[in-house]
Amino acid sequence: MSARLLNGTEVAARIREELKPRVEAFTSRAGRPPGLGIVLVGQHPPSEIYVRNKLKAASDIGCRAELVRLPETATLTEALAAVRALNADDAFDGILVQDPLPSTMGSGASQAVFDTIDPAKDVDGFTPVNAGRLSQARAALAPCTPSGVIELLTREKIPMSGAHAVVIGRSDIVGKPMALLLLQQHATVTICHSRTRDLPAITRQADILVAAVGRTAFVRPEHVKPGATVVDVGINRVTDGAEVAALFPPDSPRHADFAKRGALVVGDVHPAVAGVAGALTPVPGGVGPLTIALLLANTVTAAEARAGWSASH
Ligand code: NDP
Repeated sequence: MSARLLNGTEVAARIREELKPRVEAFTSRAGRPPGLGIVLVGQHPPSEIYVRNKLKAASDIGCRAELVRLPETATLTEALAAVRALNADDAFDGILVQDPLPSTMGSGASQAVFDTIDPAKDVDGFTPVNAGRLSQARAALAPCTPSGVIELLTREKIPMSGAHAVVIGRSDIVGKPMALLLLQQHATVTICHSRTRDLPAITRQADILVAAVGRTAFVRPEHVKPGATVVDVGINRVTDGAEVAALFPPDSPRHADFAKRGALVVGDVHPAVAGVAGALTPVPGGVGPLTIALLLANTVTAAEARAGWSASH
């Protein structure tokens, strides 16, 4: 048996197409496009790529997308000032601060910066106000990655109501909101983490298993009930050839990718899980593209809500 692959790239493209008429309608009615402001602090190569992709995706659907760049030496006060300036600027409906911030800003810096974002413009859904609304099932702006997973499962007709969903990971960005959104879909939800005892015994009960661990190939066939839907949120960069050789069968096209690039992006789910699961999100091309599509959806939703118009979807 080989799992059906859930194609996040295709679903994300459909979501972006569906947003275009909403962007056009907003732009003609408001006299300006929906605006997304991204704050990037310091030099962090993966963040540069993420931010470039987000800015391009936003401008491709007709939004105004602007980067506010601060140097590596910027202070927390300067980062907070950049967020306050975007809060005060009516041309921006969405604000995103790219994590991580430079470690020199201190351990509480990200939380302090997220807490300063106007909840009406909080397109990442990270502010305490939006996290609270999510827990009460009335969030307009929910975190993009778990919202993208729900969109994918819905559009791929994976039944969630009554299903047992197990989420591995309890971060504020992925695991916790994922569990809340699955609960809203009437799944019976179990959250696992690093202190969970006998993890495989729990994950094997899952009809839907979401891996948001941040460890390469962590979920193995013995974690998975035959036929289950497995959602791989992980993004891990592998640069060791021996690790690639151990992960993928000799006929896998991933070896050629690795030879070309010297690195591979792999998920939290071992490739052998495809032989057990009923459906599986690939990495890359699964959850990743949906995260950006849902960021755009949140930006358009925030623009409509700030203008006092009800969302058209
Ligand atoms: P965090 O590091 O914040 O959280 C990881 C979670 O995994 C923690 O709750 C941790 O438990 C749990 N965990 C770690 N080890 C184990 C273990 N041995 N057994 C069970 N649970 C364990 O990561 P994030 O939530 O931010 O991200 C998770 C993954 O998703 C990463 O690979 C990240 O790159 C990726 N990601 C992908 C996105 C996308 O667009 N596709 C967007 C955001 C993230 P504990 O709390 O006990 O420490």
